[in-house]
Amino acid sequence: MVVDGLDATGTTTRRRSGPVGVVIAGGGLRATSVLRLLSEVEDLRVVGVYDSSRSAPAMRLAEDLGIFVTTEADDLAQIEGLDLILDLSDDPLVSRSIGERCPAGVDIITGAGTELVWDLLVAKKRSEEQEKIFVELQVAYDKIRSHERKLQASKEALERANAELENRLAEIFFTHEFFKALTVFSSVDDVASLVVDGANGILGAEISCVYLFDQDTWTLRLRACQGRPDEWFRAVVPVSETILGAAFRDGFTQQADVPHGSELANWVKEPDDVRSQTAVPLRAGDAILGVLVVAWTTYRELGVAERDRLQVIANQSSLSLQNALLHEELERLSVTDRLTDLYNHGYLLQRLEEELGRATRFGHRLSVIMMDIDDFKQFNDTYGHPRGDQVLKAVSAVIRQNLREIDVAARYGGEEFVLVLPETDSAGAMRVAERIRETMEAFEIEVDGAGLRDRRTVSLGVATYPIHGQTVARLVEAADRAMYEAKRQGKNKVVLAR
Ligand code: GH3
Ligand code: MG
Ligand code: MG
Repeated sequence: MVVDGLDATGTTTRRRSGPVGVVIAGGGLRATSVLRLLSEVEDLRVVGVYDSSRSAPAMRLAEDLGIFVTTEADDLAQIEGLDLILDLSDDPLVSRSIGERCPAGVDIITGAGTELVWDLLVAKKRSEEQEKIFVELQVAYDKIRSHERKLQASKEALERANAELENRLAEIFFTHEFFKALTVFSSVDDVASLVVDGANGILGAEISCVYLFDQDTWTLRLRACQGRPDEWFRAVVPVSETILGAAFRDGFTQQADVPHGSELANWVKEPDDVRSQTAVPLRAGDAILGVLVVAWTTYRELGVAERDRLQVIANQSSLSLQNALLHEELERLSVTDRLTDLYNHGYLLQRLEEELGRATRFGHRLSVIMMDIDDFKQFNDTYGHPRGDQVLKAVSAVIRQNLREIDVAARYGGEEFVLVLPETDSAGAMRVAERIRETMEAFEIEVDGAGLRDRRTVSLGVATYPIHGQTVARLVEAADRAMYEAKRQGKNKVVLAR
């Protein structure tokens, strides 16, 4: 497009918009360099090269670049879009011919002007290169920064993964040890303690406890706890109550938040201390042995993975607990008399040996009471053996009522009983024996069938270590002799050994 305008002298000049069209006159090496430089300048366009020789370097380069070349100065007038002639020739003939043939409105730069153009072009080229280098540096810097950020991010991710892995490893290790230990421990209390340790170690439970079902009282009894002292928990929880009872009765895991002021967690003495609780039934086959409880003092819902883990702990624990309970029951049976639930003869002798050893070591007294039911044969003959058994049970209950926790009561033979009273002298033992005799004397035994009632007296002999004997055999013998003396004196009596 061609636009008209006024130059400084007021004459009309032809100025096109767009790049300035340049013809380079001269084909030497400098012209070649200028041609190269100009080809990179946006607002200049080389529209032709003129030299007297077609083989001059700039002429050849121009041809390669598709630029018009000529050896005839007359051709200059024909070049479309020519604004400026840059005379770089050293040839005076060329310079002159340009001067003569230059079309009107076209400027000629020659001599020192060309030097100036050269310097400007070189400076421009240099600053462009610097700009380019700067941009490249900027790009490189950005790349490095972005790599650094990525590296940092992946380093952090790696550290997180590492920590997670370490946690998992510790958990796996603990779980492995936990399962291994479960197979080794045999007492119920040991297994129960291990279970709460497992709930703590594997699940990170803040509070955990194991309650086992007691068939006699239909209650759940605390067997092990972790996270809080024993007194913090209710020792006995009826199966009709709390989340524990629900888990036990329904056989399903129960989970509940505990709002402030609610009684939902009243398996704890201060229910407001608990905010979240989960109770898992401890199931072995068809039987539910008790409940494992995990709890926190903050609101905290267990995730799916945590519930799974809790279930695994409960399942494994239940098998070990069942084993331990069976073992415990077997042991109990092996030392218990079936009819009276007192200890049996064998266990009595073993315990007496132990207690005697203790009494010897600590210089304590120890008393033995031998007791026999009076005229029991007659009772059996009159009412039959089964009713005689009921009397034996009733007598056993009376014995139990009159003993302390540390005393040992055993059915020694058919209707004979032996009581061991550690740390008790003759006077103390005589008082106990007398109390039992009096209770029996006053006691109306209810015998089933036709509202039958019976009174059965007993005769008792008392012997005390070390006075009446210093071995188990001697002591029992002394008590036995004293008992026979009571029989001899007319029965329903207490006699101290001599
Ligand atoms: P005494 O006053 O001299 O002790 O007379 P007794 O009849 O009690 O003594 P004796 O030794 O003559 O008889 C003991 C009786 O105890 C024999 C038996 O009928 C009875 N007896 C022993 N063991 C059992 C038992 O397990 N069940 C029942 N029902 N009776 C038993
Ligand atoms: Mg008897
Ligand atoms: Mg007897």
